[in-house]
Amino acid sequence: MPQRIQTDVEEIEGILNEILNTKSPPVGRCRLLSSGFNPGHALNITEDISGHKECISCGNCIDICPFLFREPSRRQKTEQRTSMALESIVGEDCDQCGACILVCPQVDTTIKNYVVNRRMVEVMSRLEQRIGDEDELDLDLFLEEAINQG
Ligand code: SF4
Ligand code: SF4
Repeated sequence: MPQRIQTDVEEIEGILNEILNTKSPPVGRCRLLSSGFNPGHALNITEDISGHKECISCGNCIDICPFLFREPSRRQKTEQRTSMALESIVGEDCDQCGACILVCPQVDTTIKNYVVNRRMVEVMSRLEQRIGDEDELDLDLFLEEAINQG
């Protein structure tokens, strides 16, 4: 959905890393750093929305969030499926996994590529450290639960 010419990551790398280093859902701010709607996007409206960066309330970021998978009761706090809802129900409990960025149709591919290619190793090593942490639930159990639910 974003524009053909997208945000140059080199120009926003500083602020992007600040966002990714903050313990709070990053998707809304990554959306605002993106290029916005592509004029060719097939919404059936007459208004020119090219370049707009609004959340389209698709809820992808809420559906993918691993914290909400572990704490599904938080989802009951709101019916809304926006980045603002994600921020209010996850807040500082964010795992900083970056999954919400990757599933957002409004975030530029350039930003997604940066997250996957430059930040995922760090994310994986953080998750790996948590596997041995007695205060954390066992990640293998999450996987087992997910398979059983499927
Ligand atoms: S998907 Fe990951 S980065 Fe996004 S809010 Fe949930 S835990 Fe945080
Ligand atoms: S994934 Fe959907 S709901 Fe979440 S910020 Fe992007 S457009 Fe909004």
